[in-house]
Amino acid sequence: MTAPLLVDEVLLAEPRGFCAGVDRAIEIVERALARFGRPIYVRHEIVHNTYVVNDLKAKGAIFIEDLDEVPPGATLIFSAHGVSKALRSEAARRGFQVFDATCPLVTKVHVEVAKLAKEGYEFIMIGHKGHPEVEGTMGQLSEGIYLVEDVADVAHVRPRGGKVAVVTQTTLSVDDAAEILAEVKRCFPHVREPKKQDICYATQNRQDAVKVLAPAVDVVVVVGSPTSSNSNRLRELAERLGTPAHMVDAADDLLPQWFDGRRRVGVTAGASAPDILVQQVVARLRELGALSIRKMDGVQEHVRFPLPRGLGGAGHRSDDTTAAPRS
Ligand code: SF4
Repeated sequence: MTAPLLVDEVLLAEPRGFCAGVDRAIEIVERALARFGRPIYVRHEIVHNTYVVNDLKAKGAIFIEDLDEVPPGATLIFSAHGVSKALRSEAARRGFQVFDATCPLVTKVHVEVAKLAKEGYEFIMIGHKGHPEVEGTMGQLSEGIYLVEDVADVAHVRPRGGKVAVVTQTTLSVDDAAEILAEVKRCFPHVREPKKQDICYATQNRQDAVKVLAPAVDVVVVVGSPTSSNSNRLRELAERLGTPAHMVDAADDLLPQWFDGRRRVGVTAGASAPDILVQQVVARLRELGALSIRKMDGVQEHVRFPLPRGLGGAGHRSDDTTAAPRS
């Protein structure tokens, strides 16, 4: 049966898809597999994408949450989201060969927390409870770091001292984070803010691109897995701008009824979604009638992060904040 012709035009957000931290994390697992052979253990999904995780599983990666699942002498990789100090120490105590795929922009936040804690600061962390990045960042300290998920949470923060700094999860909605930060500053006028916001360049650029894309189309498709924080934020943002939006893990998830009476379709992808999935979504939209596929203008990203020592990179120390994006 031929598909009904529902779609006229597809606009692709620019930038979309993989960021430098995701590229690096996947390359670390692939290089470890090539160098040490299977299996390679990975603490948590290396990045929040079903396709990527299944692909690496097929190549010999085993994804675990608990270090008890890792046999003695194994090679273990920390995911791009980062880990707590306790987990890092436990992995070292058990003698695993560890490679750290924590995104350098998350490590930068960890370094800032450790540095300011030594100066007597307590922290307000803006982020989503239960997200592994938040657990990793909060877990840089044993106490004195308070999570706020929304504006209302700020009123419940009771720091013990007068020195308070704020840090954020790297993949938040830029607009939501700004609103929460304004409340933090209202309640704690002397709060110390990061010199440069913790929300990363990739999150910011993909959200900026959706702000251009959403008003130009009738419906937005976000390629990303349900666990991906930055992909969820892209879908919410498009909807907030008044354009219906749907998130899909793969092209098979597209439902023709989404495009009924909505002939211009915008497509974007979260920072952990590979380009092959975008291509498959576009191919499906062609089957639904799309004749014109057009890339929007947008920021060109040229950011690369160095690989760790032992996997082809010169490596950087965990306290090396110069591992910032090169563009
Ligand atoms: Fe790093 Fe941002 Fe990519 Fe997360 S989304 S891996 S913080 S560059």
